[in-house]
Amino acid sequence: MNKAPVLIDEEKWTRFREESYYPLLSPATRRFLDELAGSYRLTFQEFRQLTEMARDLFMWGERPLEEVFASLYPDGAPAHKKEWRPRLLNHYQTLKNAAKDYNAVRLKRPKKREKGKIRRLESDKKIFGMCPVASPKTVCCNLKTIDAVENCVFGCSYCTIQTFYHQETVFDAHLSEKLEALSLDPARRYHIGTGQSSDSLVWGNKHGNLDALMRFARSHPNVLLEFKTKSDNIRYFLEHDIPPNIVCSWSLNPQVIIENEEHFTAGLEQRLSAARRVADRGIRVAFHFHPIIYYNTWQEDYTRLAQRVLEMFTPEEVLFISFGSVTFIKPVLKQIRRSSLETKITQMELVKDPHGKLTYPDVIKIEKFSTMYRAFEPWHDEVFFYLCMEKAELWERSLGFVFESNDAFEQAMLDHCFARLPKK
Ligand code: SF4
Repeated sequence: MNKAPVLIDEEKWTRFREESYYPLLSPATRRFLDELAGSYRLTFQEFRQLTEMARDLFMWGERPLEEVFASLYPDGAPAHKKEWRPRLLNHYQTLKNAAKDYNAVRLKRPKKREKGKIRRLESDKKIFGMCPVASPKTVCCNLKTIDAVENCVFGCSYCTIQTFYHQETVFDAHLSEKLEALSLDPARRYHIGTGQSSDSLVWGNKHGNLDALMRFARSHPNVLLEFKTKSDNIRYFLEHDIPPNIVCSWSLNPQVIIENEEHFTAGLEQRLSAARRVADRGIRVAFHFHPIIYYNTWQEDYTRLAQRVLEMFTPEEVLFISFGSVTFIKPVLKQIRRSSLETKITQMELVKDPHGKLTYPDVIKIEKFSTMYRAFEPWHDEVFFYLCMEKAELWERSLGFVFESNDAFEQAMLDHCFARLPKK
C-alpha cells in the first residue's frame, strides 16, 4: 500500500473497531486492516465486512487476510479500493461456497470442555412445551418437549443451546413433582423429547432425573418418550427395567465431522455400539442425521454410515430416522465468530429459510436428503423417515412424499411408532 493515510475520526474508529471482530484478530491482520482503512478511506461498513472475512478465514483454518491480499497482488496493491475489493470478496465467497475439506487443514480442537456452573434450581418454570423450532411454515412433527436440564456440556460448533442458556447448566429441583402434575389427555398420544434443552443421556441419572422420567413414562403409556443423545452414557438403560414406551435416539455424523465439529461427544463407533447395546435390551432406538454437513467427501461418508446402520440394526429395532440441515440464527453466527473455536461450520453458502434463518441452498439440501433416503431404501416400508424443520417442497423433491399438515405428520408418526413398541 503506497497511499498516504487519510485523517479519520480516531474516536469513532476506535469505538467501531471495538464493536467489530477487530479485537479478536491477530496483530498482523489488525495492522493490515488499519493500513487499508487509512490508505483507502474505507467506510465503516467496508471495514466491518473485512473484519468478518478475516475472522472467518481464521476459523476455517485458511491463510490470513493479509496473505490472501498479498497473493492476489504480488506486485503491489492497486490504487483504488474498487479495484481490489470485488476481487478479494470474490476469493472469499468462492472459498465459502465450495465444499469444505477437513483433511486439507487441521483445525485446532478445544482441549477442555467449559462446563461452567452446574446448579439445581428451585423455580416455577414450566418444563413442558413445544419443540422450540417447530413451525407451521415447515412440515413439522409437533414434537412436545420436557426440559429436565438446561444447557449441554458438549461443544458442537453449530449448536444453538449455548446461545439460549449461556454458561450455566441448570437441573430443575422439582422435576419429579412437575412431571407428576402434568395433565395430559389420556385419550391422546404424545411424542415427547427430552433432548431439546440438553443432551438427554450425558448426565446419566444425576439428581434422579432418569428415575423421574421413567416413572413419568410408566404412568403415561400414551406417551412416546424420546432420549436424544450424542453420548454413550447408557448405563442406566442397561441396569434398569425400562418401560416399553421409551426410544433412545442417536444423532449420527461421520467421524471426521465428530472430530472437527462435535467436540467432547462420543465417537461414531461408541455411539453405534451404545445404540446396539440398548437395542439388545429390547429398547427401541432411532437415528437423527442432523445436521448433515456438506463437505468434499460427504456423499461417500454418509452413504457408508447409512450402510453401517443397516448392517448393525434390524428395521424392527429402529422406530424412525430423520434428516436435517444446519440452520443459523444471526446471534449464533455472531457467537461462533466471537468464540475462540476453529470451525469450518460457517464455511458454506448461506441462504434464508422460510423463517429467515440462514441455511444451505435448497439444491444442496435436496442432494443430501435424497442421497440419504436412497441409502436407506431397504427400510423405506418399515422405518418412519422424515425431514426435520424443512418446507414441503423439499420433502417432495427429496423423499418423494409430504404430509398434508403438521397434524397429519404427527398422527402418522405416532401410529407408526406405537404399533412397533415392544409388548411388555
Ligand atoms: S420436525 Fe423437527 S423442528 Fe419440527 S417439531 Fe419435529 S423435531 Fe421439532
